[in-house]
Amino acid sequence: MSNPTVAIVGRPNVGKSTIFNRIAGERISIVEDTPGVTRDRIYTHTEWLGKPFNLIDTGGIQIGDEPFLQEIKDQAELAIDEADVIIFLVSVKEGISDADEAVAKILYRADKPVILAVNKVDNVELRQDIYDFYSLGFGDPYPLSGSHGLGLGDLLDAVISHFPEHEVDEEDSAIRFSLIGRPNVGKSSLVNAILGENRVIVSDIAGTTRDAIDTRFTNDDSEFVMVDTAGMRKRGKVYENTERYSVMRAMKAIDNSDVVLMVLNAEEGIREQDKRIAGYAHEAGRGIIIVVNKWDTLKKDNHTLHEFEEGIREQFVYLSYAPIVFVSALTKQRLSNLPALIKEVNTNHERRVQSSALNDVIMDAIAVNPTPSDNGKRLRIYYATQVSTAPPTFVIFVNDPDLMHFSYERFLENRIREAFDFKGTPVHLIERHRK
Ligand code: GDP
Ligand code: GDP
Repeated sequence: MSNPTVAIVGRPNVGKSTIFNRIAGERISIVEDTPGVTRDRIYTHTEWLGKPFNLIDTGGIQIGDEPFLQEIKDQAELAIDEADVIIFLVSVKEGISDADEAVAKILYRADKPVILAVNKVDNVELRQDIYDFYSLGFGDPYPLSGSHGLGLGDLLDAVISHFPEHEVDEEDSAIRFSLIGRPNVGKSSLVNAILGENRVIVSDIAGTTRDAIDTRFTNDDSEFVMVDTAGMRKRGKVYENTERYSVMRAMKAIDNSDVVLMVLNAEEGIREQDKRIAGYAHEAGRGIIIVVNKWDTLKKDNHTLHEFEEGIREQFVYLSYAPIVFVSALTKQRLSNLPALIKEVNTNHERRVQSSALNDVIMDAIAVNPTPSDNGKRLRIYYATQVSTAPPTFVIFVNDPDLMHFSYERFLENRIREAFDFKGTPVHLIERHRK
């Protein structure tokens, strides 16, 4: 089951991004050397009282040349489509404006819980003014002060109380995967083609308030869950073609997956936006497969595939671990191989290696290529151990973490990859000081 999504809506300047950042807190972290990752965040994965959820600031999705009122209406529509719970944010300072009423009108149509929050209630005197907002018709308003960080606990208690009570199925061994990529690369076509080739399991889980957005199927006795497919089939909304929206969708799908299929369009080659989306997938530490779709559209000779592959390796240097497949949703070329590859990558993503074997690899590596030294002080590696999986994460105990150079770390990673099968998964190395 995917994590619930919460969206913040409201007219400009009520404090959406302030509240978003407050809720996201310190969890927003960006790997600085991933290229193309935007700094201003509109999407995050966070939790309250142990309940994980995705959070969207719809104000960050600029739809374009539309009149102001239309734009915020579109953002409210987007929230209804994407979220399980909506936070409707207004401001006590300015009172109810026409724009607030326009948002409210759209939200009346939502069959999802809407929680009204009144921001900028910076002191007790302002508190009595929040009752004016009852007239918007969304029940008790929750007072907030984004500036002072007040009221967030009560708001979040209300938000999570609306999450569907789903039994967390610990036994579920199904592999969760998603297709991400910019508009028009062929995600929906691939979804339909993959589902057409496999036995789809019809879910009989009733009574949840959420859309059934995940599709389950079996292939060769393995169970898969394709994440977020209904949203992909939804068509015709103005916001769909904005870059911000497609990046946001990709991030949401990534958070809910074990393995991500990064879809590229052979016809158009690699674009800036592809790199941004791939950067997020890499950062999130999921298993990744690069899928080049529309392979049928190219006139090919003996070199085409090799050249395309080289181009991808050049543009996505940090994804060197990801396998590349060339497919066509149209002709179904090589699609039948995908489930097995997804399974293989998932196995590698969850792989746990024995400490003794790992330390043999590290010691052999040091013997071939001695550790670096700096100012006469040499890096000493004492011991390595795998501390977690998905992605595989290794802690290396050393005399001084500062002596570990990037290039030496990469050398160790390569040796680990030669010894164990980690195709398709990032691996993380962490140096720790040991006295
Ligand atoms: P958005 O356009 O809805 O995302 O609003 P922002 O988060 O950018 O905030 C708009 C302005 O309101 C900024 O100048 C914020 O500093 C200010 N602001 C946000 N929260 C509060 C608050 O709780 N009290 C006061 N007094 N100002 C706030
Ligand atoms: P999405 O926006 O990523 O979901 O892309 P769609 O699945 O809607 O596909 C966009 C367009 O590309 C549609 O007109 C599809 O028919 C077309 N398309 C998708 N896959 C292929 C393919 O493998 N070959 C060709 N020739 N066209 C494709």
